Amino acid sequence: MNINGIRILVVDDDDLILDLLTTGLEVLGVSQCKAVTTGAEALDILDGEKSFDILLCDLNMPGMDGLEFFRHLANKGFEGGVAIISGQDERIIQTAGKLAQLHNLNIVGTLSKPFTRNALQNLLENYVPKMRSHHRGQDHSLSPDDFRRGFDENEFFLVFQPKVSVKDRTLIGVESLVRWRHPDYGILSPFAFIPIIEQYGMINELTDVVFMKAMQQGSLWNSTDGLDIKVAVNISVDNLHQLDLPEKFAAVAVAAGMKATNVMVEVTESRLIQDLSTALEIMMRLRLKGMLLSIDDFGTGYSSLEQLQNVPFNELKIDRAFVHGATKDTTARAILESSINLAKNLGLSIVAEGVEDQEDWDLVAALGVDIVQGYFIAKPMTATALTDWALL
Ligand code: C2E
Ligand code: CA
Ligand code: CA
Repeated sequence: MNINGIRILVVDDDDLILDLLTTGLEVLGVSQCKAVTTGAEALDILDGEKSFDILLCDLNMPGMDGLEFFRHLANKGFEGGVAIISGQDERIIQTAGKLAQLHNLNIVGTLSKPFTRNALQNLLENYVPKMRSHHRGQDHSLSPDDFRRGFDENEFFLVFQPKVSVKDRTLIGVESLVRWRHPDYGILSPFAFIPIIEQYGMINELTDVVFMKAMQQGSLWNSTDGLDIKVAVNISVDNLHQLDLPEKFAAVAVAAGMKATNVMVEVTESRLIQDLSTALEIMMRLRLKGMLLSIDDFGTGYSSLEQLQNVPFNELKIDRAFVHGATKDTTARAILESSINLAKNLGLSIVAEGVEDQEDWDLVAALGVDIVQGYFIAKPMTATALTDWALL
């Protein structure tokens, strides 16, 4: 283990803890460690230097608390490791960790106060292999010109992940997931570029490309390969400002030869929808044109009950945070069960995401989930691979 080179930023309002941590880290051989007492200071520092490998962060701080801090970190696209330090009970720490994961932060562990030097060491040891395998901490600076070239050179492509029936494992549909074959950075995951392209106001163009490719591929499967599957695409909340989106989608689907009823649009409310009436109108009109609507990442608190009341969704996708490992996690299981009941009462079809093993499968099957998507069935794959997979 080489913890010598790790750069650590500690955020805790308690001077005593800061002292304990910085001395503890020094003893363990960490030579680059900075300590601040507020989230705001930490964000300032990250703005300036942005090169820390691990953030050790307290949950309970006056002013900006840990949860708000995580949100800001996520918005910045912080890719280093994050460790939660807290005196709160285990459940609260666990939930905070989950929340941070939902923000796509790279959580490396938690440290309950009071902590031992051993616990601190474990945490660091935990981090090192993760950092290597994930190649995190790399700073891709993506400019609008990069995206422009990406469109012009056709660098965006889709992979597809099966959604299968729990009853008999037949293929019901696929979810289209975008990837970027970047000339310098290799294949980028949507987590690495969707938030940035949204900031540049170029997400509509990406959605158009994704939708077109998905429809063309879907039509090949359904007309040429003799399948009859639904093709889902993800849209961003920023797409819900474009009033002509339903017409555009319908026209593209028709031109490609896809039936509207085989087109599924997945929506996550990841931010407050500023213009709710426009968003509602767009979602309603997608339905009126025969397309299907799915509420994504359900249970994360982003996708709310309120939305369910207002929008005629067809499908509810339960976030993988409440699916994988739910047999061992009482809170996750409670959320899973109540989401299933809710969806049943509303007559929605239920998709469980993130089914990774037999245990997850058995649980969701026993709870009455209709459709499963997850590594246990198949990882996202290229169109050709999916064709082979489906026709085998
Ligand atoms: P999502 O809509 O929740 O998509 C499911 C994500 O979970 C995919 O990650 C998929 O690879 C991953 N996944 C599937 N099964 C499992 C499993 O069993 N275990 C685990 N750990 N993960 C699993 P991916 O492809 O990296 O996509 C990440 C997110 O990026 C998507 O989350 C979606 O919100 C967004 N995204 C992807 N494509 C597009 C797009 O074309 N447009 C927009 N606006 N967003 C997109
Ligand atoms: Ca989705
Ligand atoms: Ca999801």
